[in-house]
Amino acid sequence: MELAFTPRQRAFRAEVRAWLADNVPRTPLASYDTREGFEQHREWERRLFDARLSMVMWPEALGGRGCDLIEWLIFEEEYYASGAPLRVNQNGQLLLGPTLMEFGTEAQKQRFLPRMASSEDMWAQGWSEPNAGSDMAAITSKAIREGDHYVLNGQKTWSTRAIYADWLFGLFRSDPASSRHHGLSFLTVPLDSPGVTIRPIRALNGKEAFAEIFFDDVRVPVENRIGDEGKGWHVAMATAGFERGLLLRSPGRFQHTTRRLVALYQAHREVADRDPAIRDAVCESWMGAEAYALSAYHTVGRLAKGARIGDEASTNKIVWSELDLKMHETAMRILGARGELVAEAPEAEDGASWLEGFLFAQAGPIYAGTNEIQRNIIAERMLGLPKS
Ligand SMILES: Cc1cc2nc3c(=O)[nH]c(=O)nc-3n(C[C@H](O)[C@H](O)[C@H](O)COP(=O)(O)OP(=O)(O)OC[C@H]3O[C@@H](n4cnc5c(N)ncnc54)[C@H](O)[C@@H]3O)c2cc1C
Repeated sequence: MELAFTPRQRAFRAEVRAWLADNVPRTPLASYDTREGFEQHREWERRLFDARLSMVMWPEALGGRGCDLIEWLIFEEEYYASGAPLRVNQNGQLLLGPTLMEFGTEAQKQRFLPRMASSEDMWAQGWSEPNAGSDMAAITSKAIREGDHYVLNGQKTWSTRAIYADWLFGLFRSDPASSRHHGLSFLTVPLDSPGVTIRPIRALNGKEAFAEIFFDDVRVPVENRIGDEGKGWHVAMATAGFERGLLLRSPGRFQHTTRRLVALYQAHREVADRDPAIRDAVCESWMGAEAYALSAYHTVGRLAKGARIGDEASTNKIVWSELDLKMHETAMRILGARGELVAEAPEAEDGASWLEGFLFAQAGPIYAGTNEIQRNIIAERMLGLPKS
């Protein structure tokens, strides 16, 4: 068995590394949970796109460069190792993008994907409603067909960065007589449509990272529907699979965080070593990130032979979300009370990035389907345990 990278893969890694070394902004961008930071990140995404490094896995005709999954993992490793900004258009690029590749018409692919790759269009997700979170089949927002349009009424909530985004994709009930998973349609909606009201919600970090969205007689052309009318659940489940699977959280991100964690431990070793459990937690975090990376290469090897990510997306989601929590909790233990200093405080460590990461890590077990729901899926579909 040949476990080394090929010359082509090594050349690709070198090219990506060199470009990032020359182009990654020297000063960190403002948080993408602010208008200013969102636009700075959009500008950065454009530069990536111009270098054909925005969506390396997509076909060239759609703004990518036709890389395979191994090359994508290499890109991700280099991207995070370089300290490049977090990706702001992941909802579009990593969730709706692959959904369109699978379910979109040729016209929809041409219309949406290149603008998504260049981040001219930024996307928000519209699944959750006040009474439909984990139980997404309880969606009540309606999309009633009137000729060649749907008329949308209802409310979505917790939509990440929707106050800054250009478009929303999500599920709406197109058959008012239907219930549960039936009669739902997957629609794309311009967020500047008449009748759309977006109200920000503050996240734990105090920034307007989420929004609730109200639809009052919003008219959306029928050609904005992805997949068949009434069959949106099936399309949405594919999107959820991309979110929980490898795409949203590649191992490179965690390997980079764990390297920073080791450096943090080394810098504060005298204090940290007073509690031997901290050193254990640093080692466990490092091993966890490496194990996740090896498992990703294994999965990608299987996918290359035609396998599909199925229910294992749920185990994957639990692994990365719990790993992220562990790494950030460990960093906060190393930093002690200083870890709670906000970015403006003169003695804040690393611009309070550990605090910011710690706060966001709390959300990992909730978004992309809570970890309790993932454990239900594993119990029922992978282990064959009874429902109750
Ligand atoms: C950072 C972040 C970003 C998000 N971004 C978006 C977004 O862009 N778009 C969007 O639509 N939504 C988004 N969400 C919302 C997210 O999808 C929901 O929070 C999630 O689906 C849970 O729904 P809920 O909050 O209504 O909690 P509930 O469904 O009310 O759950 C409450 C608790 O009960 C548990 N629970 C519920 N049902 C079961 C069950 N059957 N078995 C065991 N336990 C159960 C849950 O695990 C949870 O602990 C985001 C959330 C976060 C935290």
